[in-house]
Amino acid sequence: MSSDAPVLKLYNTLTRAKEEFRPLDPANVRMYVCGPTVYDYAHIGNARPIIVFDVLFRLLRHLYGADHVTYVRNITDVDDKINARAAERGITIRELTEGTNKIFQEDVKALGCLEPTVQPRATEHIAEMIALIEKMIAAGHAYAADGHVLFDVPSMADYGRLSRRPLDEMIAGARVDVAPYKRGDMDFVLWKPSKESEPGWESPWGRGRPGWHLECSAMSWKHLGEVFDIHGGGIDLVFPHHENEIAQTRCAFGHEAMANYWMHNGFLQLEGEKMSKSLGNFVTINKLLTGWKGIAWPGSVIRFAMIQSHYRQPIDWTSGRLEEAAARLSSFRQRTAGAPDSKPSLWLIEALADDLNTPEAVVELNRLFEQLKHRPGDFESAGELRANCRLLGIDLDEVNLNEMLRASRTDLDEAFIEERIQARLAARAAKSWAESDRIRDELAAMGVALKDNKDGTTTWEVKR
Ligand code: AMP
Ligand code: ZN
Repeated sequence: MSSDAPVLKLYNTLTRAKEEFRPLDPANVRMYVCGPTVYDYAHIGNARPIIVFDVLFRLLRHLYGADHVTYVRNITDVDDKINARAAERGITIRELTEGTNKIFQEDVKALGCLEPTVQPRATEHIAEMIALIEKMIAAGHAYAADGHVLFDVPSMADYGRLSRRPLDEMIAGARVDVAPYKRGDMDFVLWKPSKESEPGWESPWGRGRPGWHLECSAMSWKHLGEVFDIHGGGIDLVFPHHENEIAQTRCAFGHEAMANYWMHNGFLQLEGEKMSKSLGNFVTINKLLTGWKGIAWPGSVIRFAMIQSHYRQPIDWTSGRLEEAAARLSSFRQRTAGAPDSKPSLWLIEALADDLNTPEAVVELNRLFEQLKHRPGDFESAGELRANCRLLGIDLDEVNLNEMLRASRTDLDEAFIEERIQARLAARAAKSWAESDRIRDELAAMGVALKDNKDGTTTWEVKR
């Protein structure tokens, strides 16, 4: 890392504080992020950790050098949801996970994410999982009972350090199953037996399959070692998943830590409501890319919309957020067309080094853009704006608002138009005339003409 580079500070869930980041080995900075369970299309909530940690990966590569960062994001391809879905569709789990993973890879590539250094699959690390269990048993932290192997929670004096919850809350949060083979209520499964019809692997405890938490301990060990730098995922994973990963890895190897910095992104909700697959209230990445609310949103627009909020804050995902992002990036593209990419600005690196302060970065990008508006011939600043966007994983050439709106005309979405009309009426009621005009122009670009009636309603017709 060069001496004039800003100091990287990250909020560490372990200590509940923003800390200076000191890698174990600056020549090989190591990060692990819990990846998807590939049983279905990934939704926009799942895209949040993918984008957030991609921004961090890019920043680390910038600060330490592209060849000095190892990023591991796993693929969970053994899981009871996978078994159920494969059985439902009458295919093997391998067929299901191959297909779903392929779509996932295409989706995240479209979102401008770099490929992680390694994307290990759980099913290819069964031997490491068995070896880990054997180490835990030998160290007196796990026991076999009735075809299962369980982690003995009371055997670890400081279990619960990450989530800092009182024991009774932990018991409730873990939704513990009471089972006759368990010694303690909190003990969790490392290995469980598989029925003939279920996927399974031979092990010293019979044919079975791993518990979910064990997979990440095995894959991070294999690819990053016994102790590494950063471990990330969504805030919902703090307990029990990350707590249990820590318990397994630390008790298998006897170190003070599994990873030194634990980072968690906040949750994303959809139009004011919690996303829920079971209630049908969710939107997939694929749907956004191919057509949501009448528009196929470019990956860069989705990404820019996502990083408007700081990664630890909640996000409310709406089409308004996407529209604003699209309009912004489209004007960035127009203003910077033809300028050669130069170097990213120091202020951008400084904002990102401050616990990934992307909202601050966006404010500064806008400031640079405003400056450009007054200095149209300033190629240097134009190149800087492009380079800044590139560092954030945003490809300005992808975003042409007029083309997006024109393309959307062939497939007019009436619900979307109604919604825009309501948004415009709300803007007018609030005397936000500029916003009201903007919505009218946006619809006009789609070939939709508005008519304001005397009774205060607005109707529309298609003009082509
Ligand atoms: P899952 O496939 O449910 O294990 O989730 C994969 C990743 O997406 C995990 O890191 C989750 O924390 C994260 N995640 C799931 N839903 C959301 C959401 N609504 N907002 C933000 N992150 C989420
Ligand atoms: Zn994990």
